[in-house]
Amino acid sequence: MPKLSNRVQTFTDSVIRRMTRISDEYGAINLSQGFPDFDPPKEILDALAKAAYAGPHQYSVTYGAENFRAALAKKQAKSFAREINPDTEIVVTCGGTEAMMCAMMTICNPGDKVMVFSPFYENYGADAILSGAEPIYIPLVPPTYNFDIRLVEDGFRQGAKAIIVCNPSNPCGKVFTREELLAIGKLALKYDAFVVTDEVYEHMVYAPNKHISMASLPGMYEHTITCNSLSKTYSITGWRLGYLIGPADVIEGAKKVHDFLTVGAAAPLQEAAVTGLEFPESYYDDLLTLYTKKRQRFLDGLDRIGLKHNVPQGTYFIMVDIQEFLDQPKFQGYTDLEFCEWMIKNIGVAAVPGSSFFREKVNHLIRLHFARSEETIDEAIRRLSKLREN
Ligand code: GLN
Repeated sequence: MPKLSNRVQTFTDSVIRRMTRISDEYGAINLSQGFPDFDPPKEILDALAKAAYAGPHQYSVTYGAENFRAALAKKQAKSFAREINPDTEIVVTCGGTEAMMCAMMTICNPGDKVMVFSPFYENYGADAILSGAEPIYIPLVPPTYNFDIRLVEDGFRQGAKAIIVCNPSNPCGKVFTREELLAIGKLALKYDAFVVTDEVYEHMVYAPNKHISMASLPGMYEHTITCNSLSKTYSITGWRLGYLIGPADVIEGAKKVHDFLTVGAAAPLQEAAVTGLEFPESYYDDLLTLYTKKRQRFLDGLDRIGLKHNVPQGTYFIMVDIQEFLDQPKFQGYTDLEFCEWMIKNIGVAAVPGSSFFREKVNHLIRLHFARSEETIDEAIRRLSKLREN
């Protein structure tokens, strides 16, 4: 058989999504790939039903249906503290995944360096390889997940074209403070580089932490490409609706990349999702209240079992420390991946091994999420308590 490209031989499938497949195979409670087990808001479903008959069913404008972009510009203007031009500053993509890939392909030439915080959402590794970029990893050091700004300046000195900032951060739940963002932004301006942000968990930031968009900081709009999606905010991960927002020059390039990658996001789904984009502020308050309760329920459960974990400032992910189990003779030599597989089969709960997120050699953390009904969270905790019985 003729050889495949080098590119596909340098990364594996997504471990996050692989864990979902294994979890389903064994009928486990899936706390690995992050998506909710509850329905999207009824208003959005009603709008979808309406779109089924009223349309549209043909291509929308490739970079997003006009009404979708208009609604999006209006909604996001608040967090950016400025007007967003829906015609020149937005590209609607097939999920946040395409948004990030599109951003990377728009700004990177093969060999360009891009800074990535570690732990990082695993897509960024593949995004770098597919766009030809060479990652420079900046450690976010557990348990606080703070970083050394001098390493960021080193990266820019080495010529990094951009830095990817996932805020709030998947998998570690870090919410970057204004000071941290200002410091990163200042360096990006000094070295004339881009900041690419991934803000898909913007509405899951727990008090007293606050979400600040990099693009809203003084002078940063022109240097920032914001990637985002509707998946988590409206519980519609399967709809694959994402977007990029950035300065017109960048977006002009991104429109071309997107056009030839996917042409466009699903037209009837954009139509239905406009309803969500027009929700009042109370929708986001309620969403946050819901996730705040789930987070507390899950954290309390972990504490009752006595499992060591971080307390995420944002997102719906928690890193749990499994070192005490790996130290047992039974698990001697286990990798975190093997431990997760064992957990699916023997405990009935699926997690993602931490090593899929860290550049550094980390084998003692697993990522669990709590975007689940209260009953499922309780059942997951009951099952996890069996870890102590083995
Ligand atoms: N962001 C989610 C996670 O980390 C999953 C997103 C995806 O699989 N596309 O689990």
